[in-house]
Amino acid sequence: MNIIQDFIPKGNRNRPGNTMNPRYITVHNTGNVNNGANALGHSNFIKSLAAGSTSWHYTVDDQRIVQHLPTNENGWHAGDGGHGPGNRTSIGIEICENADGNYAKAEEKAVELIVHLMETHNIPVENVVSHKKWSNKQCPHRILPRWGAFIETIKEKASEKTVAKRFDEVPDWARPSVKKLMDRGIIGDPVGDATFYRIAVILDRLKVIA
Ligand SMILES: [Zn+2]
Repeated sequence: MNIIQDFIPKGNRNRPGNTMNPRYITVHNTGNVNNGANALGHSNFIKSLAAGSTSWHYTVDDQRIVQHLPTNENGWHAGDGGHGPGNRTSIGIEICENADGNYAKAEEKAVELIVHLMETHNIPVENVVSHKKWSNKQCPHRILPRWGAFIETIKEKASEKTVAKRFDEVPDWARPSVKKLMDRGIIGDPVGDATFYRIAVILDRLKVIA
């Protein structure tokens, strides 16, 4: 995963530096459709004094992911106060909606980032939440109307990634047969014992699962 790290300078108001153990991932839309309001634009903004006390961890556009804060420090993005769980225990992700970018692609990249962060920090999908959850703001406004579908996409991507990893554990000689069983939807998890792999290969040779 290609992530540009361009951290807010230490000492800025929006880099409070409180230690954070991330338990949630909070999703936002930038609400800025101006041309150039992409990840790099937001990176410049968030490092400037104009950002005030506002900060978050990642901005994603159709080209790039820029990280503004380490994930073990909190940002101020959830609107639930100085000790709120949104601000103090969640990783904030802003998805760009600049008119000169491809919004669908930006959202796709954000899903990849979310899956990566879930894995890295052991965060369950139930803890991938909207800004609205913390402070009732209508954010991420582009996703809220189809929030359920958005979460389903995250689940699918996460399980694809898990299956791909599990597939690496299958012995070489059984892989083509196991893959056929998966493609046919007969099995979900590719990993099994030696008997399972032998049976898979036998079924394949008998052309039962061609
Ligand atoms: Zn928001």
